[in-house]
Amino acid sequence: MPQGVTFIAYLLAGLLGLLGLVFVVGSQGLPARLVVGVILLVAAAALAAMPRLRPQQVQIKQTLDLTGDVSLQDMPCRNCGAAIGRNDVEVKAGAVFVNCGHCSTSYQLEEQAKY
Ligand SMILES: [Zn+2]
Repeated sequence: MPQGVTFIAYLLAGLLGLLGLVFVVGSQGLPARLVVGVILLVAAAALAAMPRLRPQQVQIKQTLDLTGDVSLQDMPCRNCGAAIGRNDVEVKAGAVFVNCGHCSTSYQLEEQAKY
């Protein structure tokens, strides 16, 4: 997906830049057209710079999602030992509750540091 977004951003930047140039070149001394052209050029530059800033944010998001998945997959149900999924965990008033979809048991999850 990031590659497609980058391509669209560059495409839009190119179009905006071209439009901005047309406005600036064809301004014929009209300040309003010159201003519009400059705004378009600035927008094009911002759009072209955006994809370079994006990949970092995407990477951080992916690692966060990954650690969340791993910690949940490693956790078996206390009653039947079945793997607890993301949908079986509920957070109420700061405490984590597990509702096992396998054996219908419900219990509060305590922090491992307490053991
Ligand atoms: Zn269970």
